[in-house]
Amino acid sequence: MSAPNKSYDPVEVEALKPEAIDRARDEALAAISAAADLDALREVKAAHAGDRSALALANREIGALPPHAKADAGKRVGMARGAVNKALAARQEVLEAERDERVLVEEAVDVTLPYDRTPAGARHPLTTLMERVEDIFTAMGYEVAEGPEVEAEWFNFDALNIAPDHPARTMQDTFFVRGPEADGEQEDADGSGIVLRTHTSPVQIRSLLDREPPVYVICPGKVFRTDELDATHTPVFHQVELLAVDEGLTMADLKGTLDHMVTALFGEGLGTRLRPSYFPFTEPSAEMDMVCFACRGASVGDPDRPCRTCSSEGWIELGGCGMVNPRVLTACGVDPQKYSGFAFGFGIERMLMFRHNVEDMRDMVEGDVRFTRPFGMEI
Ligand SMILES: [Zn+2]
Repeated sequence: MSAPNKSYDPVEVEALKPEAIDRARDEALAAISAAADLDALREVKAAHAGDRSALALANREIGALPPHAKADAGKRVGMARGAVNKALAARQEVLEAERDERVLVEEAVDVTLPYDRTPAGARHPLTTLMERVEDIFTAMGYEVAEGPEVEAEWFNFDALNIAPDHPARTMQDTFFVRGPEADGEQEDADGSGIVLRTHTSPVQIRSLLDREPPVYVICPGKVFRTDELDATHTPVFHQVELLAVDEGLTMADLKGTLDHMVTALFGEGLGTRLRPSYFPFTEPSAEMDMVCFACRGASVGDPDRPCRTCSSEGWIELGGCGMVNPRVLTACGVDPQKYSGFAFGFGIERMLMFRHNVEDMRDMVEGDVRFTRPFGMEI
């Protein structure tokens, strides 16, 4: 144990000079009162009251002083640090109060504002378009008829005059639930296989079997084909077919009905035309076109005004139609000598594509509300 150093003069320790301590204290107090927010105050606290601050370093020097000098220096440093800590606490309190006040104003929530936590969904445009078509025909006295989506082959093909060797009966087009020759014991009593219906035409057959003529029905619904999903194909799509069977119906009645439908869907002044075609279940058969509603034919032969809707053809193909084949009437027990009928059908997806400029069929089936929402509610 060494003897105390009598010659040690505390005044010579730079950090412990009274003026140095006072200066360090004053600088700390000035910085504290200048701190504008809690972050700034945190920095001031580290600089002036932290382990590396001038006053902390001075405090550390006290231990090296002789006993008679310790009390005086310790008192001075202690008072300075006490003043700084007190000022820090006071400033902290003021700044916290200011922050709380500001948060209350800036983050105020008006609980009286109306807010819909579960946004109302939009109905799918395929549904609304299909219902619009139904409305047009029910207004003319037609009845909406529905049938099973899993259908006997007889209804889907045979009754519609589609012979067993018709291309539509090959596996390329049709989903077979049960083939007719797969196993004799599994066949229905009439020997018919089971398919996912490839069109809504079997509903026409069921309607004719269920009702006595005159029959006026519209058959909307899902149909199935073995197509890959791409921009213009989907294995599940929607059709609307129409059937009218009555005495004395002619192709003129069919044309007039088509004109009315096109006017109701697209507006006045758009004619239709029929082009010869072939379907097993109608005779004669036709493809039906309508005048392009976008350019009204003005784009034809005018390279300055190209039309994307009709590819500058002037016409848009709507679907197939014709007079009901007498063989179909006979298959349904209707006398073709007394009654005649017309039928037509079209795809709802295709109509949605050109009516609303939808370019990719996948948008209709992927369920993204960003696609359906702009269509909104349509009544
Ligand atoms: Zn056009």
